[in-house]
Amino acid sequence: MSTPPCAPGSDARIDLHAHSTWSDGTCSVPELFAQARAAQLDVLALTDHDTVRGWAELPAAVAASGVVAVPGIEVSAEHDDLSVHVLALLVDPSESTELASELAQARRSRGERAQRMVELISQDHPITWQDVLDQVGDNDTTIGRPHIADALVAAGIVPDRSAAFHTLLRSDSPYYVRHYAPSPGRAVEVIVRAGGAAIAAHPASGMRGTAVPHDLLHEMIDAGLAGIEVDHREHDEAARAELRALADREGLLVTGGSDYHGSGKPNRLGEHLTGGEVLDTLLALARSTTEVILP
Ligand code: AMP
Ligand code: ZN
Ligand code: FE
Ligand code: FE
Repeated sequence: MSTPPCAPGSDARIDLHAHSTWSDGTCSVPELFAQARAAQLDVLALTDHDTVRGWAELPAAVAASGVVAVPGIEVSAEHDDLSVHVLALLVDPSESTELASELAQARRSRGERAQRMVELISQDHPITWQDVLDQVGDNDTTIGRPHIADALVAAGIVPDRSAAFHTLLRSDSPYYVRHYAPSPGRAVEVIVRAGGAAIAAHPASGMRGTAVPHDLLHEMIDAGLAGIEVDHREHDEAARAELRALADREGLLVTGGSDYHGSGKPNRLGEHLTGGEVLDTLLALARSTTEVILP
């Protein structure tokens, strides 16, 4: 159990979903926390896709910014070609867990998949794998479609990431290739076994194709899901009301997060927030040695 970062009843500004350059965000970890301070956040979770690589930079970023950090991961999962994301907060980062092995497999497959997508795109557009690597800061970065988008932008093929996602990189595009990811139930299971709190990330998001169906959410609930990210830019009011009712029925926590990706996406830090009492419950739930990082 970690130390609660905010007194009960406080109105701390808590954003539980953000990406850095260790995956497909455009800000380094120190920049991200400097921006979090500027956005008057009290707490920010670092949730890069399938990696804990940025966690080592959190103590310095917290000390410099005064913003409390929640170490997290956005774990990739998949069901019947549907990409499902699960936020894993405060898990054990050691490389011996099943979670670490799932992350390693997903990351390896993401690299191969990106290379294959570039091969396909290069049949019609002037872009090479090296162009994509030029957009990736470090060998350990989790590669995703956003890095291909950045290469397409650099080559003048599309104006920005969003345009790339609406055209060549869409999940129904002929250039789209899947990558390995565990089933959503398995993802939740390994997060829980690694001592963390599992939260269904943007389950009603439209951008990723169909929303996560309810029977799949129930599989995740049975596997030990702690909460649902209800407040997210890609959820409309009806979806939020439905998810809130589901969370209420199933005794799940309701969270909110910006899913900030820096300049690569319109999402702004702090645009959606999580209640202080919800974070306190999440901290009490997490059983690993990973703790929130206080200034
Ligand atoms: P991938 O994980 O490789 O399938 O790529 C999907 C990821 O791209 C998701 O996590 C999105 O959040 C991210 N992404 C970043 N920028 C954008 C954008 N402008 N439009 C859509 N998705 C984006
Ligand atoms: Zn992303
Ligand atoms: Fe996501
Ligand atoms: Fe995300």
